[in-house]
Amino acid sequence: MIMEDVTGAQLIAEALKAQNVEYMFGIVGVPIIEVAMAAQASGIKYVGMRNEQAACYAASAVGYLTGRPGACLVVSGPGLIHALGGMANANMNCWPVIVIGGSSDQNQETTGAFQEFPQVEACRLYSKFSARPSSLDMIPAVVEKAVRTSMYGRPGAVYVDISGDMVNAKVNRSRVREVPCCPPPPVSMADDVAVTEALGVLKGAKRPLLIIGKGAAYGRAEGPLRELVERCGLPFLPTPMGKGVLPDNHPNCVSAARSRALLEADVVVLFGARLNWILHFGLPPRFDPHVKVIQVDLCPEEMGNNVRPAAALLGDIGAVVKQLLHHIRTDGWKYPADTKWWTTLKQKMAANTKMTKALALKVTSPMTYYQVFHHISQLLPQDCVIVSEGANTMDIGRTMLHNHHPRHRLDAGTFGTMGVGLGFAIAAAAVQRSQGTGQRVVCVEGDSAFGFSGMEVETMCRYKLPVVILVINNNGIYSGVDAETWEVMGKMGELTTVAPPVSLLPDARYDEVMSAFGGRGFLVRTKEELVSALEISLSDWERPSLLNILIDPSSDRKQQEFPWLTRSNL
Ligand code: ADP
Ligand code: MG
Repeated sequence: MIMEDVTGAQLIAEALKAQNVEYMFGIVGVPIIEVAMAAQASGIKYVGMRNEQAACYAASAVGYLTGRPGACLVVSGPGLIHALGGMANANMNCWPVIVIGGSSDQNQETTGAFQEFPQVEACRLYSKFSARPSSLDMIPAVVEKAVRTSMYGRPGAVYVDISGDMVNAKVNRSRVREVPCCPPPPVSMADDVAVTEALGVLKGAKRPLLIIGKGAAYGRAEGPLRELVERCGLPFLPTPMGKGVLPDNHPNCVSAARSRALLEADVVVLFGARLNWILHFGLPPRFDPHVKVIQVDLCPEEMGNNVRPAAALLGDIGAVVKQLLHHIRTDGWKYPADTKWWTTLKQKMAANTKMTKALALKVTSPMTYYQVFHHISQLLPQDCVIVSEGANTMDIGRTMLHNHHPRHRLDAGTFGTMGVGLGFAIAAAAVQRSQGTGQRVVCVEGDSAFGFSGMEVETMCRYKLPVVILVINNNGIYSGVDAETWEVMGKMGELTTVAPPVSLLPDARYDEVMSAFGGRGFLVRTKEELVSALEISLSDWERPSLLNILIDPSSDRKQQEFPWLTRSNL
C-alpha cells in the first residue's frame, strides 16, 4: 500500500485527536498557524484567544471539567513565556493541560534566531513533563506520553515543543508508528490496614469533620461521598472549589460555621484537599493542636505536609470512599445526630447566617458586596457554572453564591491567580456548548481581576459564547476611592505620586468594553438596575453580557475572627 506524506503539523493534530484531546486554545503566528489549521481539520475545536495566559487557563479548565487535558497552542519565545503563568496555575491546582509550543528552527539554535528561547528547559519548572520530539515519526509517542503524564498520578501541566522547521517538514506515514489513545488513569485503592486505622480514628471522634476538596471534584467522587456523608450523618465542609461536590444547601454542610468547625474538630478527614494556606496549614490557631487528620489523596508525597496524619489513605478518592463504605455498610456505624458538636455547629451557622442576611438586606446607595451578592443569588439558576476571582468579590461571593453541582465553581485556586476568570469562563462555555447541557456560565469578577484578561470579551463575542460577566466594581484592588476624591487627588499633585496604589479609575465603563464588540453591556447602580440587567442577560443565549456593578468603593468584608494567612505556633 502506498502511503502519503504527512507534515509535522498534521502529526501533532492527529496525535492530539488520537489521545482524545477535544479542545485547543491558543494564539497563532509563525511557526504554528498550520498546527491550528490541522487541528481543526482533525476535528479538534480551536478557540483563538487574545493572550496566551488566558488560553492556557482555558485549556487547563477543560482538563478539570472533563478529566482530559485541553491543549494550549503558542508561538515561540514570548508566546510560550506568556503561557507559563497558565502552566504554573494548572500545576498548582493539579489540573491536566498540554501546552504545544512552536520554537525557532533547529538549525538556527544558539544563533540568536527569531524568538529563540530555551523552551523545553523553561517549562520544566512549571510542568511534570517537558520534551521535544527528536524526529517527526516520534510525535505520536511523545504526545501520548505527554497526555498520559498530565492525567496519571497527580495531574498537572505538560509541554511539547515543536521546532519551526518540523511543522512543515514531511515524512511518509508508513514510517510513523501510531500510538492508540491512552486510557483514563488506573485506579488505586488504599491499604486495608490503613483503612482499618482510619475507621478506628473516625469512629472514636467526638467532633468529626469531613473536608471535601477540589481533588474530590476532579476525581468525580460525588456519588460515594454523598453516601458516606448521609449514611454516617457526618458534617462536611467544602473547600472553595470543593463546593458543589455535595450541594452547598445540604443539611450536613457546615460552611456557614467554617472557622468554628475547623477550630474545634478533633478528627478531620481530608478528601482531596491539601493542608496549605487555604486550610490554614492544619495548625493552631485555626485548628486544634491535637486534631487527628485522616488524609485521602493519590499523591504519596502529600501525606504529612504540615501535619502528620493519624491515617494515610493513598488512592483514588472514589475508590477509597467505597472501601470505607464497605465496612460501614456492614457494621452500620453512624455518628449520632444529637451530639453537642452538631448543636455547636448549628448554633454558629444560624448566628452567622443571620449576620450575613442583615448585611444583605440593608439598603444603601451605592450598594455593598453583601447586597449585590444577595440579589444575584436570588436570580442565578442552580445549575450554573460560577467562575469567580478578585479579593473581596471572591471571598464574599464564595459564601453567598451557592453551588449545587460538582465542578461548577472555578476560581483563583491554590495559586491565588488573578486573571483566570475569563479564560475559565470561555472554557466552561465551550464545554457546555458541545455537551449541550444548557447550563449558564457566570463570571463574577472584581474590577481589578477583570482587567488582567479583559480583552477576552472579544473572544466571547467572536464565538458567541453567552457568558454573563458581573464586574463588582469598587474602583480598585481591595478598595478604591470615589470619583470626587479622585478629582481632589488630581488637584493635590501628580497622580502617580498621590493616588493610592490600590486605586483604579473610578466608575470605569467596563460595560462599554463588552458593547464595543457587540455583546450586551449594562451600567448598574441600583438593585432595580441589577435585577433587570441580570434577567435580560440570563435570557439571552446568543451573546455574552457584562454588568458593570458600581458598589461603594469602601465596602468591605464583615469583621473576621482571624487575620488572613495566620501562621503561628510552628
Ligand atoms: P483544595 O484547594 O480544594 O483544598 P487541593 O488542590 O489543595 O484542593 O488538593 C487536591 C488534592 O487532591 C491534591 O493533593 C491531589 O493530589 C488530590 N487528588 C486529585 N485527584 C485525586 C483523586 N482522583 N483521588 C485522590 N486524590 C486526588
Ligand atoms: Mg475591586
